[in-house]
Amino acid sequence: MQNKYDVIILGGGLAGLTLSIQLKRTNPGITILVLERRESDASTAAHKVGESTVELGSHYLREVLDLKEYLEEFELPKHGLRFFFPSETKDEISSRVELGPRERLPTPSHQLDRGTLENFLAKKTQELGTHFLLGSTVKNVDILPEGHVVTYHKDGQPVTLNCRWVADATGRGSFMKRKLDFHKPMEHHVNAVWWRLKGVIDVDDWSENTEWRSYLKPGLRLLSTVHFMDKGYWLWVIPLGSKNTSIGIVADPAVHPFDTFNKYEKALEWLKTNEPRGYKMLEPQTENLLDFKILKHYAHHTGRLYCAEERWGVTGEAGAFLDPLYSPGTDFIAMNNSWLSDLIIRDLRGEEISGRADVYEQSHLRLVDNWIPVYQNKYLLMGKTQIMVVKIFWDWATYWSVPTLLFTNRAFTNLALLKELFSSAKSLGRKFGELNKSMQNLFLDWAPYDTEIFSERYIDPYDLQYMRDFQIDLDTKYEPAELLEKVASNMKILEQVAAAIFRLVSAHVKGTPVNLQVDPYKICLNAGSPVMEPVIEDAENIDASISREVDKMWFYTKKEFA
Ligand SMILES: Cc1cc2nc3c(=O)[nH]c(=O)nc-3n(C[C@H](O)[C@H](O)[C@H](O)COP(=O)(O)OP(=O)(O)OC[C@H]3O[C@@H](n4cnc5c(N)ncnc54)[C@H](O)[C@@H]3O)c2cc1C
Repeated sequence: MQNKYDVIILGGGLAGLTLSIQLKRTNPGITILVLERRESDASTAAHKVGESTVELGSHYLREVLDLKEYLEEFELPKHGLRFFFPSETKDEISSRVELGPRERLPTPSHQLDRGTLENFLAKKTQELGTHFLLGSTVKNVDILPEGHVVTYHKDGQPVTLNCRWVADATGRGSFMKRKLDFHKPMEHHVNAVWWRLKGVIDVDDWSENTEWRSYLKPGLRLLSTVHFMDKGYWLWVIPLGSKNTSIGIVADPAVHPFDTFNKYEKALEWLKTNEPRGYKMLEPQTENLLDFKILKHYAHHTGRLYCAEERWGVTGEAGAFLDPLYSPGTDFIAMNNSWLSDLIIRDLRGEEISGRADVYEQSHLRLVDNWIPVYQNKYLLMGKTQIMVVKIFWDWATYWSVPTLLFTNRAFTNLALLKELFSSAKSLGRKFGELNKSMQNLFLDWAPYDTEIFSERYIDPYDLQYMRDFQIDLDTKYEPAELLEKVASNMKILEQVAAAIFRLVSAHVKGTPVNLQVDPYKICLNAGSPVMEPVIEDAENIDASISREVDKMWFYTKKEFA
């Protein structure tokens, strides 16, 4: 122990521990103290949520932090996200439309047992020279120009230390947000409960239908993050490396009031009504119950993230958290830590960082704001299979083709690239946000018209060439100029995809010509909107190959060209 550190990290959960490793890997000489309230090692299985990772977060853990070996030996490989939509009888899983990968995916991801992982990360960062203290609850931070004063309690006694930088990773404790009062309202309200069961649960065993089982090689469904969806909710089933299973219900209170599932017995009753097959498979396992946790209104925003002048930053859930659908929690930690560690390292090198900190903070806040429409009011669509299939494919395509590609190419800390991407109203980053917003609005406008219940279909996102290309490309390393060109060409594909989706929806809902001219930034299903003028587009402007790929996600009978 020493009296003064370069950085004191408040909270040793996923965000705090990974930040310490990232800092140490970039500058081994940096002195770091992590203060963690928990008294002892984390328990396996029943520790925290945040078990399923997707491409960006996995890249961070595997490549940026170099944890590949650990992940492959002690955690489970993940077989993508998998969705089951409502059929007439949800009692028979094989009758439900299933969306997910059939074959092994090119880009790896993992299912994490958070207790095992956090214990490993604590050991790893100490090996790198970080001081890590359990049983240490932070009580006060005085932000001072000459060095901050951090006070924590250990064994009931106050201890005071100094540091140059403070990083708040206290999760929902949000220490700095409370202290400096930078709360910001969040208009997305959803609730969650989850529990862990001892033992392995394989949804392959939920049906006797051998044909359905044979769609995938044995063991692959088991490794997916499985979502069962219907109006207002999704239910997750996630396998853990400790040979236990995580189950969770996430639901919009407008459809499923929280008090209908916020206790274990009520959650089982809720399953009986909403997910009868799940109930039959999970209820008998009550004797294996390891824990049961609840979280009301989990989404929250933040007004600040990085302050260069006062040398503090916020990471992980201490900042903003939107929604667990698509498992983006670790992604946000990855981006957050990459920005914060870059600022700290540069400041310790004596660089002037205020301009950079402003760009990072604005980029981060814009990213969160652009992501909100992905979730806001969308739980109401979860019983509508056609919309959700198109939406999930759209959300993945946008996620891979721009933010994840930028992250795997280290673009988030390249100031020139960030300025190029976001500075002007016509910049690619801004257009990306607009395009996504117009598509998310389309999904809402389309809702009253998507009324058919589909069943017995299997749809694989990797059957669509552009989706496959986006995923495979995440491993390609681009020089900055090439990366900008790549993002620009990905944006062109997304525009084509958006236009093709709109043509299908509008033809189906409003009877417009299937070769309607479409400005993807102005799409709107309301009559009289400019894009609804039935201008027959020059056939050359419609990318037929993309339209053919988009057709693969269309379940209704498609109208043919006039
Ligand atoms: C329902 C739900 C499901 C989710 N599923 C996923 C998923 O599948 N995949 C995914 O990537 N993400 C998921 N997330 C998000 C994920 O849980 C978070 O991103 C992640 O746990 C945040 O990590 P953190 O380190 O910021 O916070 P935490 O893990 O909460 O760590 C904060 C740490 O700070 C400590 N602490 C708090 N106050 C103090 C103090 N005063 N002094 C000292 N220590 C303190 C705490 O003890 C704790 O260890 C989910 C979130 C929810 C709500």
